[in-house]
Amino acid sequence: MLHAANLAEFSAVPVSHLSTSAVSASQDAYIRATRFERPTMVFDLEMLRRKYSALAEGLGTASIHYAVKANPAPQVIATLIAQGAKFDAASRGEIDLCLSLGAAPEDIAFGNTIKRASDIAHAWKMGIRQFAADAEDELFKIAENAPGARVILRMRIERSQADWPLSFKFGCSKREALRLMQLGSILGLDIAGISFHAGSQLREAGMWQDALDTAADLWSAAQDAGFALRILNIGGGFPAFYGQPVGNTRDYCAEVMASVRARFGDAVHVMAEPGRGLVAEAGVIVSEVMLVSKKDADDPLRWVYLDIGMFSGLAETIGEAIRYQIETDHDLCEAVEPSILAGPSCDSMDVLYEKTPVMLPAGLRAGDQVRILCTGAYTTSYSSVGFNGFPPLDAVFVG
Ligand SMILES: *Cc1c(COP(=O)(O)O)cnc(C)c1O
Repeated sequence: MLHAANLAEFSAVPVSHLSTSAVSASQDAYIRATRFERPTMVFDLEMLRRKYSALAEGLGTASIHYAVKANPAPQVIATLIAQGAKFDAASRGEIDLCLSLGAAPEDIAFGNTIKRASDIAHAWKMGIRQFAADAEDELFKIAENAPGARVILRMRIERSQADWPLSFKFGCSKREALRLMQLGSILGLDIAGISFHAGSQLREAGMWQDALDTAADLWSAAQDAGFALRILNIGGGFPAFYGQPVGNTRDYCAEVMASVRARFGDAVHVMAEPGRGLVAEAGVIVSEVMLVSKKDADDPLRWVYLDIGMFSGLAETIGEAIRYQIETDHDLCEAVEPSILAGPSCDSMDVLYEKTPVMLPAGLRAGDQVRILCTGAYTTSYSSVGFNGFPPLDAVFVG
């Protein structure tokens, strides 16, 4: 419906070849009726409900624990509770948030492998029964503050094809996992299963194969060692549409589950922890162009500065890893021009896309509105409280 400039392609992709706008009718109605004074995410809760249903259909018997960090807005949590979702919380704050909105404690897993001892005790007191660990000291902390708790051991993933790969920060080796199973049992913990995160934004279901092979190898080694595991937590990684094809959600999830069942059979209880895949597509950020400039008349590239940047919600542009699609109100037939896109702050790191500039309408001017698509995940929660005096990303909810 509106001008779309594909951030993923430096070469001028004919705009008409791009998919139609991802802005929903209710988002569009809100945006047209509103004068925005600051960058604002317009989040469509109905899109979230539909996405949850599609994931749930595809994942079948798996339980869905929403990774709260992707978008911790109370409206999002409450909507997901009503849909029957469970939760993966990383901190006392996230646990209390879910509980305050009515989530049942047995539906919340404390999924961070790095926990303050007093937060473990708090979670245990509130009725949370499942905890993640990948280290000996963490098992001691859990045994002391949540005696007899159910523990899921997080294993390390060596390789990832994800667009937003995770580091070695989390997860231990197979050898260490087996040792921790033994230690956990001695400490009286219920070592119930294993988990992994194969990386965020796994565009194809086939990108799960390596991680599932690694998990299956550990699982059978555990069985051989006499540990009867019963829970497999496949983590997050479900993709969102940033311009490159990601396939139909239900089919994608069904394919992942088929790969899981082929290796682990039907008896294993499977948990999934989607974050991005659930909430990203339901959000669109409305932003304003602050300045368009060239540093020299002969420079081949111009700079386009927005009122939102790296520190006010678009942190995932770091390394240009996630490339958001951008829409404007300019005519579809207008020529496009490669542009370096930057945020408004006085920090010279606050540049969004420079290595691969963005094609934007040649007539783009200060004061024009741009809509940044698929921004419902890792934006509001990554926004500083107001670095350099620029207001943090606001959020409104429709649907
Ligand atoms: C962040 C996180 C997720 C969600 O990841 P996505 O790629 O956004 O789906 C799931 N599980 C754990 C343990 C996480 O830390």
